[in-house]
Amino acid sequence: SADLAAVDGAVQETISLEAKRQEQQIELIASENIVSKAVMQAQGSLLTNKYAEGYPGRRYYGGCEHVDVVEQLAQDRAKQLFDAEFVNVQPHSGAQANGAVKLALLQPGDTILGMSLDAGGHLTHGARPAQSGKWFKAVQYGVKQDDLSIDYEQVEALAKEHQPKLIIAGGSAIPRTIDFARFRAIADEVGAYLMVDMAHIAGLIATGHHANPLPHAHVVTTTTHKTLRGPRGGMILTNHADISKKINSAVFPGLQGGPLMHVIAAKAVAFGEALEPGFEAYISRVLENATLLAKTLQKRGCDIVTDGTDTHLMLVDLRPKGLKGNTTEESLERAGITCNKNGIPFDSEKPMVTSGIRLGTPAGTTRGFGPEEFIQIGNWIGDVLDGLADVAQGRTADNSAVEQRVLEQVQTLCAAFPLY
Ligand code: PLP
Repeated sequence: SADLAAVDGAVQETISLEAKRQEQQIELIASENIVSKAVMQAQGSLLTNKYAEGYPGRRYYGGCEHVDVVEQLAQDRAKQLFDAEFVNVQPHSGAQANGAVKLALLQPGDTILGMSLDAGGHLTHGARPAQSGKWFKAVQYGVKQDDLSIDYEQVEALAKEHQPKLIIAGGSAIPRTIDFARFRAIADEVGAYLMVDMAHIAGLIATGHHANPLPHAHVVTTTTHKTLRGPRGGMILTNHADISKKINSAVFPGLQGGPLMHVIAAKAVAFGEALEPGFEAYISRVLENATLLAKTLQKRGCDIVTDGTDTHLMLVDLRPKGLKGNTTEESLERAGITCNKNGIPFDSEKPMVTSGIRLGTPAGTTRGFGPEEFIQIGNWIGDVLDGLADVAQGRTADNSAVEQRVLEQVQTLCAAFPLY
C-alpha cells in the first residue's frame, strides 16, 4: 500500500513539522525522552493489527503464538530490570496502571492517601478533578514548610486519623529520593496497602541510582516512557502472588480490552536496552547533568526547590525573580527551550499560572548533551529569566531581543546534536 505522504499529506506534514521542532528545540520537559530507532520500529510495526485479549498462553483470540513471545520477552526483561516476581506490561498508560491497582485493591468510597498535586503528586493519586479524587475519599499529604521535603510525620498522622486502605508514594515533581521503608512502616501501622508510583524514577531504579521500591511496596506502578526511555505506556509490578492475580484481572477484563501488542513489543525492546550496561552510564550522565543544571541556575540567582536535586528533575521557584510559570514557559519556548510551568509547594498561583517551572535532563542527555552543554543551557535560561525580570520591572519593553539571541545559539547547538 502507499506511503503516508501519498495517502495523507495533512498528517505527514504535521509529523514532519513535529520532527523539525524536536530537532531544533532543547527538550527539558522532565517526563519526556527520545526513544531509539529500534523502539520506534517495534511500535510502528504490523503488531498493531493483532488482537490478543488475555495473557500469554491464555488468549481469547487465535493466531497469538508470536505476540505471546513478545509479551513474554517484555515480562521477563521487566522482572529482571526491577528484580520483581510479577509484572503486567499491558496498561496503556501510567494513569491506566494506577486505575487498575485501585480497581484491584479498593471499592469506590474507600479512603486513599496520596501526595497532593501542588506538593509534587500526580492527578491519579487522589486529585479532586480525577477519578482517584472523585470515586475515593482522597486525603492528601504534602511537604514540610521549612525544607520542602516529603512530610513523613504528616503522612503518619493522616494515616492514623483517616485509616486509608491504600497509601501512594511517588509523584511527578519530587526532586529528592523517597524513603520507601518509611512509607511501608506507616502503611503497616494502619493496615494499608502501599503503592509506589515510580513513573519518573523508573530508569534510576533500574540502574541502582535510586532505592528499589519492590521490597517495600505491595504494588509498584510506572510509565515506560520517562527515564526508562521506552514507548508511551504503563506497567504494574509486585512480589505478592495474591495481589498479582487481582492485578491481572483488573487490567483485563477489568479496565482494558485488547493489549496494544505493538507497544508491548516496543516495551520489550526498551527493557532490553535498559538491561545493557550503556543504560546505567546514560542514567549517571542524566543525574550529573541535572546537578550541574541546578547549580548553574543557582549561580544565576534562581531558587531551586529543596536547594538542588538527587534525581533527573528540578523545580525552579520563580518568585525571587518576580516571574510566573506560564509567561516564563512561553518566553523560553520562543528562545527554543521547551519546559513546563509547574506549581511549587505552597504555590498561591492558579495551576494555569504557577510560580515555577519544572526542568529535567533525560531527553537532552539522550541527545548527547554533556556537562558543557547543560552549563550553557543553564546560562541561556538565566539570560531569558533576567530578560523577563527586566520587562517586569519596566527596564525593557519586551524580551524579544534576548529570546532571539538565545534561539540562534540553541539552534546552532541542536544542529550539532541530531536526534536520529
Ligand atoms: N504517575 C506519575 C508519577 C506521572 O508523572 C505520570 C505522568 O505524568 C503518570 C502517572 C501518568 O502517566 P500517563 O500520562 O502515561 O497516563
